Amino acid sequence: MPQRPTNLPVCAHCDGFPQVAITTGQTTPDGHRHTITADCPACRGTGHTTAAKLIRVGR
Ligand SMILES: [Zn+2]
Repeated sequence: MPQRPTNLPVCAHCDGFPQVAITTGQTTPDGHRHTITADCPACRGTGHTTAAKLIRVGR
């Protein structure tokens, strides 16, 4: 059972799903759909925002 770190906020761009598989429309020689993976550019595939990206509000 995977454990997710709870001390970091979930990335607002990908909502915690930083990697997606995109079908290219082609099939591999063994009949499977050929896919490529893409990482969320905001969190770089981690699924969480980093402390450096937090916005300071107020004074
Ligand atoms: Zn993200």
